[in-house]
Parts: sequence; structure tokens; C-alpha cells
Amino acid sequence: MRAEIVCVGSELLLGDIVDTHTQYLARRLSSIGIDLHHSTAVGDNLARVVDCLRHATGRSDLVLTTGGLGPTDDDLTREAIAELFGETPTVDPVLADGLRTFFELRKVPMTTNNLKQAWLIPSAHAITNDRGTAPGWWVTKLGKTIIAMPGPPGEMHHMWEHEIEPRLATGEAVIRSRTLKLFNISESRVDELLKPLTPAANPTTAIYAKQDGIQVRITAKAPNDAAAMSAIAVTEKETRRILGDVVWGVDDDTLDSVAVSLLNARVATVAIGESVTAGLLTSMLAGNDRSAACFRGGLVVPDSEGVEQRAPDLARLALKRFPADIGIGVSGHLVPGSNPEMDEFEIAILWPRRGIETVVTQRARHFRRRAMGAYHALDELRKLLSLE
Ligand code: ATP
Ligand code: MG
Repeated sequence: MRAEIVCVGSELLLGDIVDTHTQYLARRLSSIGIDLHHSTAVGDNLARVVDCLRHATGRSDLVLTTGGLGPTDDDLTREAIAELFGETPTVDPVLADGLRTFFELRKVPMTTNNLKQAWLIPSAHAITNDRGTAPGWWVTKLGKTIIAMPGPPGEMHHMWEHEIEPRLATGEAVIRSRTLKLFNISESRVDELLKPLTPAANPTTAIYAKQDGIQVRITAKAPNDAAAMSAIAVTEKETRRILGDVVWGVDDDTLDSVAVSLLNARVATVAIGESVTAGLLTSMLAGNDRSAACFRGGLVVPDSEGVEQRAPDLARLALKRFPADIGIGVSGHLVPGSNPEMDEFEIAILWPRRGIETVVTQRARHFRRRAMGAYHALDELRKLLSLE
């Protein structure tokens, strides 16, 4: 079954609201093994909504719409479905009674335009809306299904979970994903290295560039969870073998959560001295909710020209001020004759009790040096702790 989403609402196209329904539905569809092939947003315009639905039903078996089920003239989803299928809406007496009761209970007068929410066409049946006045529509005609849901997220999610997903989920397939997170490697290099894996249709492997590095998402479709996860495990093992130690985490891991887990596992404490990162490294560690046991403190010194503070000096300064096992220093470090767009910075990790004094130099584009300084420091710490 091929599915497609059509979000109706001019607010989406004016940039007033962010479309979160597509993300929600995309995840839910994948969890029940239904392939999603397209998603569209369209404004509150009858001709354009009809056009969109015609395209959608032309290429997909199942079309999910959200929005435009309200009582007003610019709520046009019912009209559009009726026009597409050449059917005439009529007021359904049972739905109309339900609406009247809804308004009486709340002691709110019901206006005549509300009756639109009691409409049905011959090919549609109503989907209960426990959270609002507008029932959804489940329309099946000529082998195509359109399911229309209301726009308010609370109503849409409730209707999806209770009335729609249980009927669509056949239990025949699931789609599961696992994301490997990489640092200090370029997207093109990952692409090149993973060339032997990427053409596979199942599990699929996709590469994404994110703020904190590259991600490789492995997705499998299988009859059940266990089969999907074991197919992913095979691809994951091969991916890790190819990529080596640039892989620092999976799924919801963050660079700071991985570093904190390793520090806590080794019962090691850490102090930070940073200049070029404007306090970001301290902020990431201090802000991590599991860092109470390992984070001792951070010194932030100005990153001004002429301050010749090297990373090992900053690490030592931090250790003096906040006694800890490990001192980390991050500083800017301009190299004569280097590209002015690129910044060089230095990261020092001192672990006196182990006799470890690592100093590495990294580069980043000037506008990204703060984040990259902090990320590189966490990545170096992660690599060091993984070896210990
Ligand atoms: P109403 O009865 O409230 O008019 P409706 O079914 O006609 O409901 P819309 O008017 O299209 O739905 O949307 C109502 C509200 O729901 C929007 O103002 C917005 O806050 C939210 N909403 C609609 N579509 C989306 C979407 N794709 N993503 C996130 N929020 C949405
Ligand atoms: Mg509306």
C-alpha cells in the first residue's frame, strides 16, 4: 500500500505555522509498515485542494488529509473530496444530533454553519472525534481511500491513534530505523566508503549532514520488530566495520551524553578551561542532567586577540581552580599565513594521574568555530575514554 499526505491550510504556506502533522503521520505510518511516497501542503482554495487530491489519488492508494474540517467557508476539505468523487454532501441526521448534543452540553449556541460538520457523501463514513466537533471522513471509492482528519493536533492525534491506525495496521509489516552518528568525517567521504551498502533496497542506508556531524540511518522493513532489528544489526555491523571509530553514538545520543556516560562509567571527573568556544563546552556539560557526578566546573576566558592562552595552559588553569581527574582546554590558535576564513583551534586533554597529555589541532570555518571547538573537544574526550 502506497500512502501520501495532504496537509490543507493557508497558514502552512504563509509560514505562520510549522507543519508537524506530516512528521507525526510519517512516523506512525512507518511504524505500521505503510510506505509513504509523497507529502504536500496546499492552501484553503477549493480548486487547488481538488487538484492536489486528484494527483494524490492518481498515484497513491491511501491519501491522508489534515485540516479544513472546521465550520467556516475557508474549511474546504469536505467540499473538495465531494467534488473529486462527484458526490453531493447531505446532512447526516445522526451526526447532526450528535453536534446539537455537543453544543447543548457546553451551553454554547450552535450556528447553522456548524451543520457542515454533519455532512457526509455516499462513499464516506464518519470517524468519531472525541476531542472536537468535526468528525473525520473515511472515504473509499474506486480502490482509493481518502482519510480526512481535523487540523488541531490534539484532535488529529487522538483520532489517528484510536480510530484510524488500529484499522490500517494489518500486522503484516513494520518499518524500523537506527541512526549511527559520526564526527570528523565529511559527508562525501562517508558516501564513498558506504557505496557498497547504499544500493540495497532493504535495509536501506541513507546519509545526512547535521550540525554535530554526519548521520547514517539504516531502515528495514520486515514482518515484525525482531526481524527488522536483526536485519538492521547485520547492516550496522558492516557499517561500523567500514567506518571505524568516527562512529560516536546512535539514535538519541548527543556528544555530551556520550562523554558523560563514559566519564560516569569510569568514575572520572572533569574540569574545563575554554576561550574560543565562548563557554559552550561548559554549558553542554553543565546542562547535561547526568553530569552532577563528573563535571567539576568550567572557566571561560575571553577569546580576544593578543591573549596567547594555549589549550594545555587553559586545561591546567581549570584543574587548579576545579580539582578533577581530567582537564580539558580549548583555545583559538591563529597560524600565520593560514586561510582567514578558517580558524584553527587547539584542544588539550590532560589526565595527570594516567600521564596523559593529548594536544590536537583542528580547523573549522570561522562562523562555526564555537560549536566545532566544543564538539571536537567532546569527540577527543570520547575517543580517549573509549580506549581506557
Ligand atoms: P478548525 O475547526 O479548528 O477550523 P480544521 O480541521 O479546519 O479545524 P484547520 O483550520 O486547518 O483545521 O487547522 C486548525 C489549527 O490546527 C491550525 O490553526 C493549526 O494550529 C493546527 N494545524 C493545522 N494543520 C496543521 C499542521 N499540518 N501542522 C501543525 N498544526 C496544524
Ligand atoms: Mg479550520
